[in-house]
Amino acid sequence: MEKLSKITAGKAKSLYTTSNVEQLIMEFRDDTSAFDGKKMEALDNKGKVNNQFNAFVMEFLSSKGVETHFIELLSSNESLVYKLEMFPIECVVRNRATGSLCKRLGIEDGLILDPPLFEFFLKDDDRGDPLITDHHIESFGWASKEEADAMQELTLKVNNILVEFFKKANLILVDFKLEFGKFNGKILLADEFTPDGCRLWDKDTLTKMDKDRFRQDLGNVIESYGEVAERLGMQIKLD
Ligand code: C5P
Repeated sequence: MEKLSKITAGKAKSLYTTSNVEQLIMEFRDDTSAFDGKKMEALDNKGKVNNQFNAFVMEFLSSKGVETHFIELLSSNESLVYKLEMFPIECVVRNRATGSLCKRLGIEDGLILDPPLFEFFLKDDDRGDPLITDHHIESFGWASKEEADAMQELTLKVNNILVEFFKKANLILVDFKLEFGKFNGKILLADEFTPDGCRLWDKDTLTKMDKDRFRQDLGNVIESYGEVAERLGMQIKLD
């Protein structure tokens, strides 16, 4: 499958059309951004690590009955995916309080959230991806009530699956963000699941192993992503 023309370039990935109108090539780049693009840097090998990390997680989720846009790995930093009609929404679930939740509500960092906390955000960098509710989604027509409910249910299902998945690698899945889109009327998990879009803490030491290492200038960003991949039994190719 060949890349034809670039249709979008996000902060870390680019999408290309292919000879099949229903399929796109998703290219993971080394570019890394935080704080709505205010902090940007290229981190060697991040594109390759994240592409293969995402493929592993998407295939695992698919084996557990979660339908995704992922079709197959094409190269070390490219994957073939279905072309979806995306919802302009980010679905976040949190098992521990940290990040924007603590800033917004003054909650103690690390507090265990039981049941896990689900939140919708609007994908809008210019407005800092604001927190929204299912009522905003319905009233502004960003998705129907049924679609918003389905996205919430799917995100919580992914959480149940991945909490156990990461626990086996001695990692706490603190929180993560998912995006969804529609393909032939069906809601599929889209975008990516990588350490760029989730928080993972070592279970014993609470060491951060995710993009917070970049956000907080903790160093060894890609080395930590690689360690997570290794603990999960992934064989990442860097050629
Ligand atoms: O920043 P906040 O604490 O709301 O992030 C919650 C989770 O969602 C984190 O794992 C973060 O990496 C992820 N996230 C993301 N992309 C965004 C916002 C949050 O991947 N635009």
